[in-house]
Amino acid sequence: MEQSRSLDEHRQVLAAARESLAQMGDLLHQCGGADLGPLLSEVDALAAEAGGVRCEIVFEASLRGEIREVGKSTREWVYEYAPSQRQGGHAQLAKLVDLTSARAARALGASRSDVFLDPDAPIAIVWGRVVTGEVAPPLALAILTEMDRLTGRLVPEAVPTVTRAMIELGLGCGRATMSELRIRLLAMYGSPDEVEDEQKRLRTSAFLSAPQVRSGELTIYRMGLTPEQASILEAALGPLAKPKPNPETKERDLRSNGQRRAEALSELCSQFAADDADRQGGAAESDATVIVQVPLQTLREHTGAGEVIGSSATGTLIGAETLRKMCCDASIIPAVLGSDGETLDWGRVERLFTRRQRRAIWSRDRTCTYPGCTAPAAWTRVHHVHHWLDGGLTDMDNAALLCQRHHTYVHDKRLWAVVRREPDESGRYVHWDTRPGSYDAYLAKLPENSPWQAA
Ligand SMILES: [Zn+2]
Ligand SMILES: [Zn+2]
Repeated sequence: MEQSRSLDEHRQVLAAARESLAQMGDLLHQCGGADLGPLLSEVDALAAEAGGVRCEIVFEASLRGEIREVGKSTREWVYEYAPSQRQGGHAQLAKLVDLTSARAARALGASRSDVFLDPDAPIAIVWGRVVTGEVAPPLALAILTEMDRLTGRLVPEAVPTVTRAMIELGLGCGRATMSELRIRLLAMYGSPDEVEDEQKRLRTSAFLSAPQVRSGELTIYRMGLTPEQASILEAALGPLAKPKPNPETKERDLRSNGQRRAEALSELCSQFAADDADRQGGAAESDATVIVQVPLQTLREHTGAGEVIGSSATGTLIGAETLRKMCCDASIIPAVLGSDGETLDWGRVERLFTRRQRRAIWSRDRTCTYPGCTAPAAWTRVHHVHHWLDGGLTDMDNAALLCQRHHTYVHDKRLWAVVRREPDESGRYVHWDTRPGSYDAYLAKLPENSPWQAA
């Protein structure tokens, strides 16, 4: 039996083990390839065990007052006698031992298991795994810190379970995940009001910053949501933010994740604004409407920018082309300014497709009309093929459903489409001319008919 050996005999075995290890390097070539792994495990187990005993020895010295007696701190003592720890580790080892001996309640000479008054206290459970070499000092300290934060908030019976769960988690995935686990553990083991209090605290600190408008740059928001709010947002964004490859053209969706999510969010909001405008009986009456002031010259010459007025985004500049795209939406009112700054047109009724018209267009087009796109009608906008700002009419023959992505694309590339009264053999009414600039080519053939040319 091992236990019958005296300490001196054990030290002789240790010396023999060190000697074996020192010679191991020269003998490795004798080891079969498949045995290298198991050999590593053997040496590793020995090293872990040694690490555990190293902690125990420092603990013993601390409890006995040995360290104090020589006028050193635990840290200095470890530094002196455990030179391998000087490269890093001696501070954490010392800190763990100081923490542990402060909470130890044993009389000298007691065995490992009754070092602590309460064997179910986190410190007792953690230390029990330290001395076996399973848990190293950094992880032990991380767990004890987390448990200090948690203990008062848990039902008392759950403390040992949570401590053990923390240890398993730390052994499985490291220290970093420890704090993320806190809220989940609170939900499972917290006192009845704990999670609610935590949620309440989160609710009152949730925020969405006011937009930081910087002309010509991205407008920046900062946002912090409660888990509940975040899950609602993610559920709504998820399907909209997925990459959408084009099955017909095999074109991949090259948008970044961030871009897709931003577009999905704006899609959600414009959908809401459009629905709200419907309920209120028109964009002019809806609170969700964006009003953009735009100089006539901007529209005529495709230069300059419109400016958002009357909302917290006031001052945001919107380029002429984007503005054209937004004019296909019910959720914006372009206020066109004459050269003297007078409002020429508030772009009301005749710009917007009525609900009845939209229903007819939905049932005609069914999906986004861009070749290969199958985005359902509910995700689309009604686009003015001949732009409203260029004098296009708000009627069925000038309308085409486009999903947000293709709506942007069609405006960016300035594409023209032919809208037929009868469907072709594939059932389509709208035929896109996908050559960039086809819209301008079409406009060039028209007599000057822009409503703004004459103004
Ligand atoms: Zn459009
Ligand atoms: Zn589309």
